[in-house]
Amino acid sequence: MIEILDLHKSFGPLEVLKGIDLRLEHGKVLVIIGPSGSGKTTLLRCFNLLETPDQGSLVLADVKMDFTAARKIPQKSILALRKKTGMVFQSYNLFPHMTALGNVMEGQVTVQKRSKAEARKRALELLSKVGLADKAESYPHQLSGGQQQRVAIARAMAVEPEVLLFDEPTSALDPELVGEVLKVIKALATEGMTMIIVTHEMKFAADVADTIILMDEGRILEQGTPQEVLEQPKSARARQFLNRLS
Ligand code: ATP
Repeated sequence: MIEILDLHKSFGPLEVLKGIDLRLEHGKVLVIIGPSGSGKTTLLRCFNLLETPDQGSLVLADVKMDFTAARKIPQKSILALRKKTGMVFQSYNLFPHMTALGNVMEGQVTVQKRSKAEARKRALELLSKVGLADKAESYPHQLSGGQQQRVAIARAMAVEPEVLLFDEPTSALDPELVGEVLKVIKALATEGMTMIIVTHEMKFAADVADTIILMDEGRILEQGTPQEVLEQPKSARARQFLNRLS
């Protein structure tokens, strides 16, 4: 189970998260939507402490944390949390000097201390799962954006995280490559992978989410099933945002 309570985050004078409460059961998919600048990416990055909240609390499996601006989080706790999360970035962020196989092996060897043989076996399984068994020896620059993103998904899964975090995973892709990445994410959802996804792809959100939250100016404006949020939003502001997209 993942839970955050009363989460706040400011950058200098700008309060970007103004008290977020969220709960996500194991095996479920949460999709975060909302206007540009509403705090979606910042919220996502709080789940693995790429951003440190100023206030509130976070529970992720057996890791529990309370935040106050005055207290620095010990490095050990940060690492404990990071081991439970896998992150997929907008711009893939693969290690350019490593092959696809090397990228998917790396975290397993350095973080999980698996043997190279074991890491290689799992990496090959995962590359096959994302449809890239034949690209194991290719370097990132030899792969399309969609292929690179699928390697990034395999890499994020390789360390067996409790939750996969996706930050706009298709927004850097040419339109014709979006589908292959969404297909892989959808397959993971069907298998019961817990995921939190920031996206602007509304059709995909409707398809994959158990719960959608619509953020606006650092707050959750709407929260519910895709049907509740996308088809019957309660607030005028949410309707305005959704109408602008259609
Ligand atoms: P988008 O859809 O455009 O990616 P978003 O909803 O993901 O937007 P965030 O990226 O979370 O929004 O940003 C929320 C606000 O916080 C923005 O005003 C942004 O400029 C600001 N912000 C984000 N990161 C930082 C940072 N490291 N330092 C200062 N301001 C930041």
